[in-house]
Amino acid sequence: MTLTLTDVRLTYPDGDRRLIALDAVDLRIAAGELVAVTGPSGSGKSSLLAVAGALTNPESGTVRIEDIDVTSLDQQGRDRLRRERIGFVFQQANLLASLTALDQLLLVAHLSGGSRRSAEARARALLDRVGLGGKAHKRPHQLSGGERQRVGFARALMGSPALLLVDEPTSALDHDRGAVVVRLLRDITHEQQVATVLVTHDLQYLHLADRTVAMRDGRVCSPAEVSPHSPAAVPGR
Ligand code: ADP
Ligand code: MG
Repeated sequence: MTLTLTDVRLTYPDGDRRLIALDAVDLRIAAGELVAVTGPSGSGKSSLLAVAGALTNPESGTVRIEDIDVTSLDQQGRDRLRRERIGFVFQQANLLASLTALDQLLLVAHLSGGSRRSAEARARALLDRVGLGGKAHKRPHQLSGGERQRVGFARALMGSPALLLVDEPTSALDHDRGAVVVRLLRDITHEQQVATVLVTHDLQYLHLADRTVAMRDGRVCSPAEVSPHSPAAVPGR
């Protein structure tokens, strides 16, 4: 599956003006590719994920996931696309305090239907895959920050997403734990042929990605990502 953003623009109301969060963004991410998106705070990284993940419709431009034009879907269509094709992982793992690691995953499966038995087999396999096979019955407070993030990855993978959107997963982790989490993400991306967008302002993880794009003021500004004719590629702009 491929994610393709073409000339995407997103603005937010800002007093009597509009604040430009994304401006002429072109980005293409293929199946099996881990792309890191970096850039200073406020440069539009989370906005990019919101648009790519069908959480927010852009003001103009198109977002395609496989052959689906996300911007043409109604609310119900977008909800369904998210449930069936997209996995999200946020800064905090957002686990439910009362549930075991296994139950966090089973809850997702329950919400989207399907048999309990096959869901449990899949959940256990995913927890094994993220190195938590022995901790399936632990609750969040019994897990480290890195382990909680790994439960979050496993949960995001429960629905076999084609697109995985990950926002600053290492911000609460020290470097070694952060590197473990990013390496795992890369391996899973390659194995399962997911298209993965990893937002991180932490430059020390960039070498683990297949490709890096930089954002600045709502624009994708890596020279490799913008055509030579794009104004964003002109030095000093
Ligand atoms: P980043 O994730 O790189 O820090 P964001 O995408 O969160 O950047 O923000 C991009 C710009 O859009 C910033 O100027 C931010 O203040 C603004 N912004 C983000 N979300 C909203 C919102 N819901 N309402 C208004 N402005 C927003
Ligand atoms: Mg952000």
